[in-house]
Amino acid sequence: MNQLRKRVYQANLLLPEYGLVAGTQGNVSGIDRKRKIIYIKPSGVPYEKMKATDIVGIDLNGNIVEGTLKPSVDWIHHAFIYKNIPEIGGVVHTHSVFASVFAACEIPIPCFTTGQADIFGSEIPVTEYVDNKADNIGKAILKHRKPGCPSIILGRHGVFAFDENPEKAVFAALMTEYFAKINLFAIILGKISKKTLKELPKYEIKKWYERYHGKGYGQK
Ligand SMILES: [Zn+2]
Repeated sequence: MNQLRKRVYQANLLLPEYGLVAGTQGNVSGIDRKRKIIYIKPSGVPYEKMKATDIVGIDLNGNIVEGTLKPSVDWIHHAFIYKNIPEIGGVVHTHSVFASVFAACEIPIPCFTTGQADIFGSEIPVTEYVDNKADNIGKAILKHRKPGCPSIILGRHGVFAFDENPEKAVFAALMTEYFAKINLFAIILGKISKKTLKELPKYEIKKWYERYHGKGYGQK
């Protein structure tokens, strides 16, 4: 089996494992740029029953080129992101709980702590509400995304995360949920204790982001 198809299958299984999805919600895709094929979760298949061969290969217009099942109904938003952001190789969509609280309120996730600065390099931005017709979601993502920030909150909907491959995109979705949780509690505690919360200054955020994404971080 195609390596990327298998990786997309395994990346999809991480969503329930990380507690980022309920039921059949959520989806992960990955793109083979050379062959112009997107591998994506099939529509409406429960994660616990999904097999690697259920992952659907589609072209950029949604025509099925590998597999027999229908692709996720969200394929069009994934394809739009791949068409418009050439460096992206993996896309994730979830309605994860804490991030969806920010989505419900149409509030970006502020950058209060260094861990968020490391990964996202900014607040996690939010879009206005858009319906799911045609390119509306994709266009809203393009309009509001911040360069270098691998996720975005979709107003009154959920999360889109994107990075150079499916595994990194899942990590961005997981971290979006993690910082949404921290920040929601911080905002509540701030109110109770009458503290004015402060975002990290822009130059500090930049410093942490560059250190994390630079050559010195992690193992060789
Ligand atoms: Zn959705």
